[in-house]
Amino acid sequence: MNMTQISSGAWLMKAGKILTAGRRNRMEETNEFLQRMEKIRAKHSGMGRYRQYKCPLCEDRGFIVQDDGKGHDVAKKCRCYAVTRAKELMEQSGISEELCRKTFENYNPGRSAQLEKAKAKAEGYARDFINFEQGRHNSILLSGQVGAGKTHLGMAICNTLLNLCNVGVVYMSYRNAVMEIKQTVMDKENYYAIINRYCNARLLYIDDLLKGRSTEADLNILYEIINYRYMHNKPMVISTEKLPESLIEFDEAVGSRILEMCRGNIVILNGLELNYRMKL
Ligand SMILES: [Zn+2]
Repeated sequence: MNMTQISSGAWLMKAGKILTAGRRNRMEETNEFLQRMEKIRAKHSGMGRYRQYKCPLCEDRGFIVQDDGKGHDVAKKCRCYAVTRAKELMEQSGISEELCRKTFENYNPGRSAQLEKAKAKAEGYARDFINFEQGRHNSILLSGQVGAGKTHLGMAICNTLLNLCNVGVVYMSYRNAVMEIKQTVMDKENYYAIINRYCNARLLYIDDLLKGRSTEADLNILYEIINYRYMHNKPMVISTEKLPESLIEFDEAVGSRILEMCRGNIVILNGLELNYRMKL
């Protein structure tokens, strides 16, 4: 072995180390790159552990693109759309966050057998909703005195259907809605936009129906909404301080339609021993 051989061997070894080191660096870079790509891919396909879509079907776009069978791509509203929209509507409706959180789990009937029964009825309604939605008797009336927890039960039905069954719910505070609608009477476009929202909601919750003094104009607005929903078999959850018989006395056209739609689901919360709010 001569000097040249030694030095060339050393050089080769050195060069090999550099090459290996270079290769390792490049391999590390490649692996890192692939990992980064995988993260991005996982994020966008909604399948990896980086998935964060509320709706994996449409990846939160609200629509999905489908083949219409004739070779054309058509955009269709995703089934999450109505729910997202209903949530927006609920937010716009002025429901407090507190109302959004009212559920069957946190409804406390205390020791009242009557409230226990009312809760069971409301839960049964929510459970069977999908089955009788299209039928004639598809609504529920929660009637009774202030403080009986009517609104809590009504909201529990709505929140259950909205969150667990993808049912689009629209909340309508009777007094506020009637005032709002009356203010738009001169603006037909706006008027019908509001009326349509209440008429066409998959499930409409009318809170505190007929609260306060109602004028002829108020009753006409109410009739328009109730009659539309009656004619089209569209369900409602209604809470009111009025008893069923006084609904009819108050306005026969409105009252009789409500009672027919709520047949089998009329819950009366009355009696001096009830004061749900005081028990909380
Ligand atoms: Zn979706």
